[in-house]
Amino acid sequence: MNDFIRPQPGILEIALYEGGQSHVAGVTDAIKLSSNENPFGPSDKAKEAFTRAAHKLHRYPSTDHAALRQAIGEVHGLDPDRIICGVGSDEIINFLCQAYAGPKDEVVFTEHGFLMYRIYTHAAGATPVQVPERERTTDVDAILKACNKKTKLVFLANPNNPTGTMIGLSELERLAAGLPKQALLVIDGAYAEYVEGYDGGAELATRLPNVFMTRTFSKIYGLGGLRIGWGYGPKAIVDVLNRIRGPFNLSTAQQDAAEAAVRDQDWVTRCRTDNARLRSWLADALAEKGVPSDVSTANFILARFGSEAEASACDDFLKKEGLIVRRVAGYGLPNCLRITVGDEPACRRVAHLIGLFKAGRGQ
Ligand SMILES: *Cc1c(COP(=O)(O)O)cnc(C)c1O
Repeated sequence: MNDFIRPQPGILEIALYEGGQSHVAGVTDAIKLSSNENPFGPSDKAKEAFTRAAHKLHRYPSTDHAALRQAIGEVHGLDPDRIICGVGSDEIINFLCQAYAGPKDEVVFTEHGFLMYRIYTHAAGATPVQVPERERTTDVDAILKACNKKTKLVFLANPNNPTGTMIGLSELERLAAGLPKQALLVIDGAYAEYVEGYDGGAELATRLPNVFMTRTFSKIYGLGGLRIGWGYGPKAIVDVLNRIRGPFNLSTAQQDAAEAAVRDQDWVTRCRTDNARLRSWLADALAEKGVPSDVSTANFILARFGSEAEASACDDFLKKEGLIVRRVAGYGLPNCLRITVGDEPACRRVAHLIGLFKAGRGQ
């Protein structure tokens, strides 16, 4: 390395993303509740499609993802020409930053928003602008106040990770209506399927020229290991993003598994129902033990402790017992732990252990 070979502005501002931990030293069968994964895994149909794809690995994949976009369009009632598929919704977020934000531009997101927004903003050389939330919930007025003529993108996860809270469609529409005219609202619907009757912002992205929606196969579809996401919005924006998308960004196995997964909505419904039941059981159980949380609309609970020290001690105790949850100090929530809703034994185990910890037997 010499002083003349330098990365683009912004790159060195990036703090490396740390995924949810998946191992504990000395524990072989740890329960992982740190990455908001679906404990029931993907649909059998998705697994079969993935296996079948093994027979055509010598062929290059489809470059336009036509079959997958068609399937998504049919299931969600959307125009396939306005859909773009990516390597996780992360890649779509990256495309949006690359295409619409650069040096001197601002990208707005909320106080406890998803860390990837900041990372891709820096990667594009743009300036991140973090806006306060109100009681761990998106504050539309605060976002509008933070916008100005430099604002190019506004990212909002709804439901939000790691808070689990969300705002309604009328608030989203009010936000879109109040943005400066050069700013695009990106509604990140990574957890949209967990909310009964919520379209993730699809209708707004259909009707409004300044709204874009991102979705993922990593959460309720149980395909985080395969990396597939998609975006939907105004045709002109999708056309721009396609210019920077690599032609072979998704493998055949990714496309085939995702297509089978999206066509199996029975599996999605089952996972949503189970999640809702286990989530409310877990939230109640923790509240009884003195650990409150906001009403979650996603597949995790943000458990609040009395202090950073207590959250950290509880995390250490859980880890020692082979249970991995997520510290969220990096999200500005040092006194909280984010706990993914697992299957029933996992929920019982985490509630039991946190009960022991709060009763003073965990320290
Ligand atoms: C998990 C998550 C994503 C999904 O990322 P992928 O790249 O699709 O796996 C996007 N946004 C938020 C807020 C998330 O929590």
